[in-house]
Formats: sequence, structure tokens, C-alpha cells
Amino acid sequence: MGNRVADRVVLLGGSMCGLLAARVLADAFAEVVIVDRDDLTDVTGPRRGVPHGRHAHGLVARGHQILEGHFPGLTEQMRAAGVEPGDFNGDIRWYVNGRRLKPSRSGLVSVPATRPVLEHHVRRRVRNIPNVVFMEGYDVAGLATTPDGGTVTGARIQRRAEGSREEVLDADLVIDATGRGSRTPVWLADLGYARPEEERVTIGLAYTTRHYRLRSDPFGDDLAIIPAPTPDHPRGAFFYKLPGYGGRIELSLTGMLGDHPPADPEGFEAFARSLPVPEIYEAIRDAEPLDDPVTFRFPASVWRHYERLGRFPERLLVMGDAVCSFNPLYAQGMTVTALESLTLRRHLASGRLPRPAAFFRDVAANVRGPWEFSAGADLGYPGVEGRRTPRTRLANAYVARLQSAAVHDARLGDAFIRAAGLIDPPQALLRPANVARVLRHMWRRPAEDDAVTRAVRQSDAVADV
Ligand SMILES: Cc1cc2nc3c(=O)[nH]c(=O)nc-3n(C[C@H](O)[C@H](O)[C@H](O)COP(=O)(O)OP(=O)(O)OC[C@H]3O[C@@H](n4cnc5c(N)ncnc54)[C@H](O)[C@@H]3O)c2cc1C
Repeated sequence: MGNRVADRVVLLGGSMCGLLAARVLADAFAEVVIVDRDDLTDVTGPRRGVPHGRHAHGLVARGHQILEGHFPGLTEQMRAAGVEPGDFNGDIRWYVNGRRLKPSRSGLVSVPATRPVLEHHVRRRVRNIPNVVFMEGYDVAGLATTPDGGTVTGARIQRRAEGSREEVLDADLVIDATGRGSRTPVWLADLGYARPEEERVTIGLAYTTRHYRLRSDPFGDDLAIIPAPTPDHPRGAFFYKLPGYGGRIELSLTGMLGDHPPADPEGFEAFARSLPVPEIYEAIRDAEPLDDPVTFRFPASVWRHYERLGRFPERLLVMGDAVCSFNPLYAQGMTVTALESLTLRRHLASGRLPRPAAFFRDVAANVRGPWEFSAGADLGYPGVEGRRTPRTRLANAYVARLQSAAVHDARLGDAFIRAAGLIDPPQALLRPANVARVLRHMWRRPAEDDAVTRAVRQSDAVADV
């Protein structure tokens, strides 16, 4: 154990955020207790508490690096279990507006496990940490506090079994990692605190997912085929080999602004047929379905600004989707959670309990870049409501140009994968070498939009983005 901070920390929620936080907390507390309403032991498939786990989940590159740092050998552990890692730009077929980005070896590892399989492997590692205890099948009912509500002293929990009674689990620190449905705003109000302000970007997104056994092989050596949604082609898909492949695949179809992929088999196939690339529909039309399509609706991205609160109880923190749930199309959620686990480690390094205000300030810094990247890109869809600053418009116009150029220029594809993978900040796309490549490509082709072309060429404006 590193710098011992206190005796017991209780994590509300044992999903990706809870697990990554537990890894870090185990170095600082005598006991880490994870409370979750689901049974987690040996679960390798979807579960009730994580309904989004049925749908495509990619761990972007920075998240993979952090997970491998927390759990050395995790990638090999998954490979031994049938997960086939590959290169993010070399082994995934990315399409933008129906055109394939030029592949190259980015050196960034993609681990195409399904979400439940990834979580299972991480949970296996956390279970091996001797001072981590799982309390499965318990509902979190609320917080226990000092009489004045100034300090959290534990959690009120109840076993999901007939006749069980609420009990209090004492803790030196409680961390809410219960995801998007977190009750902390309500608990704060009940204790007489303000709720955090919520920033929302309404996107009307839905995923509909089905699994198949294919009769043909559209992948070759590739791991996945991903037509990314864009304002010109808002329908998208994630088409992945399942671990152990044998022709089994996961297909998540995605639609924005109420254009939802249907869950009836005919409607699902028709939606797949409408994608701007034919190979997905061609692969599934005579494939054997392994289940029925299932839909998950995601009305809005939500950021709860805990860092703006003037008053907050001591010994309580909030992390993961409970703070910010991002548009899942950009695959940032698990990686931001991983970044927050590093923030937590930094705050524990002093040997004292983290102070909520300072912690939330740093979590907001983890969230801000990815939020601006995804919420800014969402504003490129005319139907998404929100204020479009000149900076947002210019950034979206530039990224569209960059993606178009990346069809011919693998270096630009790599640059984009690095920014989307949270390895480089989005501003890296504006490095002079990248801007020069984008402009070179634009000059080679007739400009489709003179206003945008002019805007992008104004280097002083570009430098401000
Ligand atoms: C459709 C979809 C696709 C996504 N795709 C990606 C992707 O490709 N890449 C990516 O990085 N991220 C993706 N995400 C986001 C990702 O799922 C989350 O960021 C990630 O799961 C971290 O969430 P979390 O652990 O904070 O919360 P959750 O995963 O929501 O987990 C919350 C946990 O708390 C438990 N819980 C909740 N309430 C209670 C209670 N009252 N009592 C007891 N237990 C409780 C639940 O059982 C659950 O285990 C996607 C999200 C969605 C919706």
C-alpha cells in the first residue's frame, strides 16, 4: 500500500468508473468496499444496472493506456480469452461520408472486447486486490451524514432480498459512481445544498444492436467496420467481430435527432441498407441472427457542474457518468473515467482525504476537452440546439476538411485518431503540418464551399481555434 489515507472508502457503483477508482483507492485505504445492485460474480454478458452494455463500446487509445497502467498485462489477458487486439487506424475500417480513411499503423492499440467482456476482465483484476470487497445485490438508498449534513459518514444500503432492512455502511469517504442516473443531486437538495447546474446538449440519439453469425467474411484481417455519422450522413454503425470471432459479430446501428434505428428485424435491416457503405448490409442480409435487436435511447449529453458549487459536504466525491455522460458516438466515457482515476490518485498522494472542491475542479478539467470535442461536433448537426460561436463553426468546417483529406492522407487520419483517442488535445489538429496537409488537399480539389475555404485559410483565425 502507498500513502495510507484512511480506513474505509465506499464506492457506490461497481461499473467501469467504480472499478478504476477502486484500483487507485486500494493503495490508500485499508478497505475499499464496492456496492452494486447487480450480481457481478463471473458476469460476462449484459446486466440490468448497465443496459448500455449491450451496445458497441470502444475503448479509445488513451483509455487503453491507462487501463494497461492500472492492470499490467490486461491486453494479454484478454487476448488469451479470445479478444483480438489491433491497430486503431490500421485494422479498423473507418468511413466518413461513405469514403474510407486511408489506413496506416498508428501504433495505438484497439481492444475490441464487448463492453461486458472488458468490464469482466477489469473486474477480475480488481477482485484479486486483497483489500477490495464487493457487496453485490445491494441497492444504495442514500447517504449517512453528521446531524448538520456537513460531512458524509457512510451510505445507506439495502440488500435486494425480501425482508431485508436498510443498513448503514460507515465510511471515511464515499464516492458516487452510480452513472448517469446518480441521485447525488437529489440527496444534496434533501440536505439543504444546491443541486449542480446541468449543461445539456440534446441529440435525440439511439443505438439499436443485434448479434449475428455471418456466412461470409467482409472483414479480411480487419477488426471492425465503422461508418462514422456526420451531419451529411447522420446514420452510423459499429460493426465488430466478437471475441473468438467464428463469424459472430455485433452490429450497433445509430441514429441522431429522433431518426432511430428500428428494433423490428425488417426495419433494422432496412436501416443497415441505408448506410453510406454497402458492406454491412451485404454481410447481414443472409446471416444467422443470434438475438433480437435491442434499442437504447440517449436523449442528451449531460454535464453536472459540481465544480461550480459553493458548498458541498465533506467526504463525498462524484465521478464518471454521474458527473458527465458524453454522446457515446465519440466513445469517450470510459476513457474520461480512466483519466478521473488518475486525478483521484493525485489527490490521494498527499496522504489526506481529497477535498471535494479541489477534486471537482480537476475532474472538470478532465471533462472539458472531451466535452468541447464532442458537444462542439454535435453542433455541426443543424438540428442540434445550442449556441454556435464562430470558433465552433470554423472548427467543424476544418474537421470536415481534414476528414475529407484523410481519405488520401494517412497522416491526417492518424492525427484525427489521436485527437479522438484523447492522446493529443484537439488543438493538435491545427499544428502547422496538419493545416498544410489539409490545405494542400483542398487546393488539389475544387472547393465545395468557398466561405469555408476562405475561413480555413485565414491562418490567424485558425490559430485561435
Ligand atoms: C449506448 C452507449 C454506448 C457507449 N459507448 C461507449 C464507447 O464506445 N466507449 C466509451 O468509452 N464509453 C461509451 N459509453 C459510456 C460508458 O458506458 C460510460 O462512460 C462508462 O460505463 C462509465 O460509466 P460509470 O461507471 O460511471 O456508470 P455506469 O456504467 O452507468 O455504471 C453505474 C453502476 O452503478 C450501479 N448502480 C446505479 N445505481 C445504483 C443504486 N442505486 N444502487 C446500487 N448500484 C447502483 C449500476 O448497477 C452500475 O453497475 C457508452 C454509453 C452508452 C449509453
